[in-house]
Amino acid sequence: MKDCIFCKIVEGVNPAKKVYEDDDVLVFENINPVAEIHLLVCPKKHIESFLKIDESFSLTPMVEATQKIISEKNIQEGYKLVFNGGKYQTVPHLHWHLLAGKLEDNEDVLNKT
Ligand SMILES: [Zn+2]
Repeated sequence: MKDCIFCKIVEGVNPAKKVYEDDDVLVFENINPVAEIHLLVCPKKHIESFLKIDESFSLTPMVEATQKIISEKNIQEGYKLVFNGGKYQTVPHLHWHLLAGKLEDNEDVLNKT
């Protein structure tokens, strides 16, 4: 979609530190991390938000990519997935946050987000 920051990252127009990519999913580092590991998992297809998901869209590729990263980063013991919506969703392209490790203030991310 035109003017969508995440679509531009998917298309390679905007830069991002990519962590994982396949035909359906892109995972990259959040430019303003709030934890040691703070990744954004998004579909390559533009979908505006969680509320726009319907039977024509499968979350399975995002789930499988996230499972793979959790395993690769060895964070099975403590991680968090966050979907923001409405006023809390800053980019109108479906994504969830994968968070693990300490926050900048050294408190545990699991207790703070
Ligand atoms: Zn988009």
